[in-house]
Amino acid sequence: MLGAIIGDMAGSPFEFAREAESLDAVRILSNDAAFTDDTLMTVAVAEALLTHALSNPDVSDTAIKAVLIESMQRWARTTRLPRGGYGRGFQRWLDTEGPEPYGSFGNGAAMRVSPAGWLFETRERTEHWAAVTAIVSHNHAEGVRGAQAIAAAIFLARTGADRDEIRDYVERHYSYNLSTPWESCVDESLPPVSCQATVPEALICFLAADSFEDAIRKAVSLGFDTDTRGAIAGSVAEAFFGIDPALADQARQGLTPEMLAVVDAFYARVAAP
Ligand SMILES: [Mg+2]
Repeated sequence: MLGAIIGDMAGSPFEFAREAESLDAVRILSNDAAFTDDTLMTVAVAEALLTHALSNPDVSDTAIKAVLIESMQRWARTTRLPRGGYGRGFQRWLDTEGPEPYGSFGNGAAMRVSPAGWLFETRERTEHWAAVTAIVSHNHAEGVRGAQAIAAAIFLARTGADRDEIRDYVERHYSYNLSTPWESCVDESLPPVSCQATVPEALICFLAADSFEDAIRKAVSLGFDTDTRGAIAGSVAEAFFGIDPALADQARQGLTPEMLAVVDAFYARVAAP
């Protein structure tokens, strides 16, 4: 989860910049870095899963959906974003009482899913809960596919899969093409800020990286939706490489005490045997 947060913060100064940054120009946590919607919705999903999906294994999908919606709406209402903002459709969803999913294939489904990649014991359960976190708003098949692919990649990375195994699994089960070189992986014919664009880009950057920081630097250097691509690449890279504790500490200092409480509860749960 901190992998997504650090990737979000690293990309935040460059969101929607016209020019891609050079790789060397991307600093992981500069003075300008701050969390955006990607981080806040990740915290909201983590809280919902930690409190409800795990404490009661027989909980229904319907019950969890209500909890996810309440959590995302409450965090959005009570926490000011220091940087970035919500997409128009998602903002409307946040402002609606009892909102319905609105067919979104936005990359928000994948940017907020990382807690699901860590909290469940099997790949099947991971993919199931990843889908549930998506479909409360992003119920388009591309939104669900993006969330499931990222959660599955995190599950595989944290359970010892190597890069080839992760690439093969995601290509086979989720039909993304991950064989494009990272430098040229942005396909401008795809809808902007969509899962179908951002998810393979982020995975390709991760697969080409030799460290956690390198994955984020590559993801951010491609420009445009830098914070979300950074968040998604960072979430998988964390599971594969781990995070330098000093960098994790630095990121934690950029969160509110309320957000930190969820982060701490998440890592306490993940570290528990
Ligand atoms: Mg953002």
